[in-house]
Amino acid sequence: PIGRREVMATLKRLNREKNVTVIIITHNMDEAVLADRVVVMDKGRIILDDVPEKVFADVEKIKGIGLDVPQVTEFAYELRKKGFDIKNDILSVEQGVEAIKPLVKSGTVKRVEDVVPQREEHVIEVKNVSFEYSPKGPFNKIAVKNVSLTINKGDFVAIIGHTGSGKSTLLQMLNALVKPTSGEVFVNGKSTTEKSTDLREIRRTVGLVFQYPEHQLFEETVRQDIAFSPANMGLSPEEIDERVKLACEIAGVDEKWLDKSPFELSGGQKRRVAIAGVLAMQPQVLVLDEPTAGLDPMSKNKLLARIRRMHDEYGITIVLVSHDMEDVANCAERVIVLNDGEVFAEGTPLQVFSDYEKLEKIGVTAPQITRLMDKLCGLKVCRVCDATDCIINMNGGALNA
Ligand code: ADP
Repeated sequence: PIGRREVMATLKRLNREKNVTVIIITHNMDEAVLADRVVVMDKGRIILDDVPEKVFADVEKIKGIGLDVPQVTEFAYELRKKGFDIKNDILSVEQGVEAIKPLVKSGTVKRVEDVVPQREEHVIEVKNVSFEYSPKGPFNKIAVKNVSLTINKGDFVAIIGHTGSGKSTLLQMLNALVKPTSGEVFVNGKSTTEKSTDLREIRRTVGLVFQYPEHQLFEETVRQDIAFSPANMGLSPEEIDERVKLACEIAGVDEKWLDKSPFELSGGQKRRVAIAGVLAMQPQVLVLDEPTAGLDPMSKNKLLARIRRMHDEYGITIVLVSHDMEDVANCAERVIVLNDGEVFAEGTPLQVFSDYEKLEKIGVTAPQITRLMDKLCGLKVCRVCDATDCIINMNGGALNA
């Protein structure tokens, strides 16, 4: 988030100081609100063209075409629907605080404490692990420093941190793609550095979905792509078919796509096919590196809902790396923050994002709604789920508060 903010600040300076015309194409609404003018396109036509305040005032229209509005804008819109007198041009946390503060009655809000679900069965144990790139070379870099953590069966863990904090290196050590320089990683009790350990088994247990996994699709048909790993495992054609079917169901791959070329599909669809290819190995743990990067808000939300279902309904342990803090707040039960290769903070999203000022110092920002509710009434809110009885979600808790 901070890196993105720096890019935007540079563009703004180019525009203001050097008078350069800037056109940005983005799915990120927090970026779009910084423009002087926003043009919204749908199915090849321009449907809105105005200043951001006017464009984002029409929350229903924007959401209706699968786009998003900033969380604060949506929150103000929900309050208006409840009959509160709030203007429809709120785009930033500061504007939200100014508009909503007069409505907050003191003493009506209570804080909740939440806890990380405690599960017993370890799947992955990372013990005092460090990793150094090119140890003796001129570009040597210690990317991970003495990290210890445990992933239990059934967990949903998010790993966050600014670019270069060591997330990808750590992820690759979880399935022995990279081995630690010191320390050990155990998968179901087996060390990835032990010579007798069967690494294929480790990689089948911990399925790794890389960033932009659709770049790795290569077979002629979607079916062949998804069947690639089970076919390599020497399973019978019936077993392979069964696995492909189940993986499609879990990842949301339509059976109608199976005989198409993966390259005929949309970006979001391709990504689901790539994830199905990993799920076809039936891993216990699914490790996802930025699974929603580059997707439009609707495809992103659909994919996230899928990932949540993989965890909630199919019991798959999920480790997710994401830069999208709203996604992390919505999905994860536990968040691990990395900074400069070390664990900086760990806890539930609520616990971790509560300390948003500390996080900002290391290049991580909390969701808008967390900052808004804290500034309004000292209430920490980070989830935007649909439950109405939960005080840490936007639609129920924050609105009721
Ligand atoms: P993140 O996923 O959080 O962006 P990475 O694990 O990719 O972080 O990188 C951690 C650090 O290791 C960064 O400083 C990065 O520049 C460095 N690094 C990553 N890959 C290599 C490599 N192949 N050679 C040398 N340094 C690397």
